[in-house]
Amino acid sequence: MPDYVIEPPRPVGLPVKGSEALFPVRRVYCIGRNYAAHSIEMGDDPDRDPPFFFQKNPDNLDPSGAFAYPGQSDNVHYEAEMAVLLKQGGTDIPVDKALDHVFGYALALDMTRRDLQEAAKQKGRPWEVGKAFERSAPIGPILPVAEVGHPAKGRLVLTVNGETKQEGDLNQMIWKVPEMIACLSEYFTLAPGDVILSGTPAGVGPVARGDVMELTIEGLGRLRIPVV
Ligand code: MN
Repeated sequence: MPDYVIEPPRPVGLPVKGSEALFPVRRVYCIGRNYAAHSIEMGDDPDRDPPFFFQKNPDNLDPSGAFAYPGQSDNVHYEAEMAVLLKQGGTDIPVDKALDHVFGYALALDMTRRDLQEAAKQKGRPWEVGKAFERSAPIGPILPVAEVGHPAKGRLVLTVNGETKQEGDLNQMIWKVPEMIACLSEYFTLAPGDVILSGTPAGVGPVARGDVMELTIEGLGRLRIPVV
């Protein structure tokens, strides 16, 4: 080990169901507009334009079980998503080999300061202030492929205070998990520890302190996240 001039940051580690060992996070990629109904609600045409990606920071992933309402925003939205966690990387990964790179899956929320994101979009500025803020991606325990396989269909529901807000099915993704891995690997060198948030169905909306968000994906369980 070399010496460092300051204490090196610790890797971000996420809990894995059935294991004492953590999953180390390298990068976090998010896919935009991956369910047709959500594209329409955001004012886009839901065709098969190539997918687009943005990033969050590894330490934005938050397994603590709560969402801390951030500053600098009065309009913070939930986006319920399935996270895909990679155990292998590469470039130009073929679609038919892509799933071999997956370690597991998890329930996650792509929390968004929508007011800041919209302002950035209007000015053609980057999205980081809207997307990559502290604790902006609550995530549940990782479920290894050995336990849950590769879910390609399954109902996804997000409730706030017991009221259903988002409803969809994994089979409604415009770009399926193998396709998004293959596409990402054409633009970036993927590596073990990379996390992909796979997009959200329609029904995104705001939360306030005191709300309780609950995400379920058929076959992947439930994630309960109070807004604190
Ligand atoms: Mn999203």
